[in-house]
Amino acid sequence: VKRAGRHDFRFFTAAMQQRAARHLQLVNALRFALERGQMHVVYQPQVSLKTGRIIGAEALLRWATPELGAVSPAEFIPAAEESGLIIPIGEWVLRQAVRQARLWLDAGLPPLVMAVNLSAIQFRTADLPSHVAQVLYEEGLPPEYLELELTEGVAVQDPPGAIATMNQLHDRGIRMSIDDFGTGFSSLSHLKKFKVYKLKIDQSFVRDISTDTEDKAIVSAIINMARSLGLTTIAEGVETVEQLEFLREQHCDEIQGYHISKPLPPADFERLLG
Ligand code: C2E
Ligand code: CA
Ligand code: CA
Ligand code: CA
Repeated sequence: VKRAGRHDFRFFTAAMQQRAARHLQLVNALRFALERGQMHVVYQPQVSLKTGRIIGAEALLRWATPELGAVSPAEFIPAAEESGLIIPIGEWVLRQAVRQARLWLDAGLPPLVMAVNLSAIQFRTADLPSHVAQVLYEEGLPPEYLELELTEGVAVQDPPGAIATMNQLHDRGIRMSIDDFGTGFSSLSHLKKFKVYKLKIDQSFVRDISTDTEDKAIVSAIINMARSLGLTTIAEGVETVEQLEFLREQHCDEIQGYHISKPLPPADFERLLG
């Protein structure tokens, strides 16, 4: 039903204007978010299905301002990326997470791998591998305790460049996983060339895993493919015991999701570990 008259057009531009205004508002506020202490990092446990133990944590960024309240990362991360502010913000998250991992080791808690999300824009900065190595060195964390979560998008623009960066990270002992796996149309040939060691099965496939036969087949295929390539698998967005049981049957290695815990402030995470 196409009735695109003047009225519809105006309505459309009004909505667009509103979005542009919100974007501008976010970017202006994001500029001062760090110096005003409005950001903090929460940590969500990753659990081994073999041992039931917490073996990792994903660092997730949180932002709230007096004017805007809590803003979802799904909204502010894209704004940070478009404005370039993701570079200083991403560096800050990396440092916080690495420092936290070191603090937990020092406290004698069971060792964990700290997973940090990396935007494609950060990934493409020329000095990324040496920057990450520098942060690890300054905070005193051995590289095997860090994992960078990349989306399949990092490889789209410049596959040779992405492979070179991944090789440099790999050579420095820094692990990489592919986030949201299955949503980005990754080719298997890519996976072979990339020095990743883990696939994170996207939560959109996990959601209906107990009822949807197609999603069951997809998840099962990803796990089997990963295994034949020697890659570890983690399923995200696991909310129910039924989902957990299916993943266990399929020999998925690890899970993450509300069934275990929501992302937590450091003190609450320690209680879970201790
Ligand atoms: P993501 O990396 O795929 O992170 C997983 C998201 O799923 C997180 O949302 C997490 O809180 C949520 N989640 C975890 N378990 C469950 C579950 O059982 N059910 C459901 N429905 N959701 C679950 P969050 O924290 O809102 O982050 C959204 C996205 O924002 C992230 O998706 C990531 O792409 C981005 N993001 C968050 N922090 C950072 C960061 O420090 N840097 C970058 N570049 N991106 C970040
Ligand atoms: Ca992630
Ligand atoms: Ca994800
Ligand atoms: Ca995602």
